[in-house]
Amino acid sequence: MDKQLFINGKMIKGEGNARILINPATGQELVTIYEATVEQVEMAIQAAKTAFSETDWKQDKEERAALLMKLAGKLEENLEELAKLETENTGKPIRESRLDIEDSAGCLKYYADLLRDQFSEMMEQWDGSASIVKNVPFGVTGLIVPWNFPLLLGIWKIAPALAAGNTVVFKPSELTPLSSIKLAELMGECGFPEGVFNLVLGDGKTAGETITASEDVQKISFTGGTDTGRLINEQCARSFKNVSLELGGKSPLIIFDDTDIDKAVEWAIFGAFFNQGEVCVASSRILVQEDIYSDFTEKLTEKTKKIKLGDPFSEETEMGPVISMDHLRKIESYVEKGKAEGAKLLTGGERTGKQGYYLTPVIFTDVTPDMEIVQEEIFGPFCVIQTFSSEEEAVEIANGTKYGLAAGILSKDVERAERVADQIDSGIIWINSYHTPFVNAPWGGFKQSGTGRELGPHGLAAYSQPKHLNTNAVMGELGWYKF
Ligand code: NAD
Repeated sequence: MDKQLFINGKMIKGEGNARILINPATGQELVTIYEATVEQVEMAIQAAKTAFSETDWKQDKEERAALLMKLAGKLEENLEELAKLETENTGKPIRESRLDIEDSAGCLKYYADLLRDQFSEMMEQWDGSASIVKNVPFGVTGLIVPWNFPLLLGIWKIAPALAAGNTVVFKPSELTPLSSIKLAELMGECGFPEGVFNLVLGDGKTAGETITASEDVQKISFTGGTDTGRLINEQCARSFKNVSLELGGKSPLIIFDDTDIDKAVEWAIFGAFFNQGEVCVASSRILVQEDIYSDFTEKLTEKTKKIKLGDPFSEETEMGPVISMDHLRKIESYVEKGKAEGAKLLTGGERTGKQGYYLTPVIFTDVTPDMEIVQEEIFGPFCVIQTFSSEEEAVEIANGTKYGLAAGILSKDVERAERVADQIDSGIIWINSYHTPFVNAPWGGFKQSGTGRELGPHGLAAYSQPKHLNTNAVMGELGWYKF
């Protein structure tokens, strides 16, 4: 169990920091993780480099597709164990962990299929030559993910990176490595060629920066906070790495007065509080049209108080603890800020349960656009209610933060909802629903929510670069110089 890194096809013990993981539902010790030293991270990068240059991984589409399918099957066979690890490590309700594992398997299958359809583009040129444009992999990719969906967000990167023919050095969050360790074991069982996939564990400073600084890594794909993303972008610029960034958000859910209020209340709760609100696209700003404000807010508060908060292993639980004591304190500090800024706390913000990091879901109203609780990503069970009178005002408020990840619009008038959607600066917009990621459609942000897209064909394109080959079957005379 202490062999937790996967380097060059073998599980090995980390020789760096020993970190004790804490179960967020109990506050008790879970297990000790032996993290990688800088030298071990470098070993992983070299293993990935060798696998890329010295095996036929990048050429052999069929092998890649078959192995991705095999891995999908392994995830399905081990669904309960993986879901249990995810719930133990993150505190998310077990029914949500199961969904994460199912979605991860679905994502692997999707890219296994998609890669079979990848064709080169051919062009007849004006001078009689032929051009062929191939999409080729970058080489070694460094994939770094956060703690809120440890396996799923990892697979969103690992599946397309491998499908495109790259090799991988993967680093999960130091808080949530458990499902990744199991994933590495399963990849070993599948028989991926040595060095094609490597797992390193550790924090951003040691493991993360070793990956982003390495000149042998050609591509970085990062999901995490906007400030970390900025730092990584700056670092990658030094070696001109290709970078994809999936960052934070402060996403609006716009509720028009023609909508069914009871249904809208449930979508708003789901949007804001699913996964304890620890979701990059959480609808942490709820924009309600003025004339339904009182009715809506009253029902939202009443229903929010009824969310079943508790043991994430109970099948009945609808919300678990937040990830850590540090994070709990951070969310609480925003509750205090909200009050100090003059907003009204309608409900929530109390610690609950005898143990673990449970916080009752927070709703603030009477906010102004400049307040920190309206502008900053809090990444917990915390939302603010804003009001609007017209379509124009809804758009202005919706676009009024530095972020542009997602948005939702609830209205019976779909034509109007689509008109509003056209004016919102966000990468993902749901009309009359929220949250569902579709594996075949792009996911990512505008503005400071990131660059690049995951999922769908865009997600595969992010892991390859075009290579143009221009061919003249017979060399002609040039005749440019007057020799
Ligand atoms: P984080 O930015 O602190 O850490 C994310 C990952 O980056 C971790 O693995 C961490 O160890 C690593 N890291 C930290 N500093 C690094 C450095 N200097 N170099 C390289 N790696 C480094 O984020 P977090 O607290 O784990 O997660 C929460 C954030 O993730 C939120 O802001 C959330 O919005 C964002 N997120 C975005 C999406 C999306 O798809 N846009 C999805 C989920 C989460």
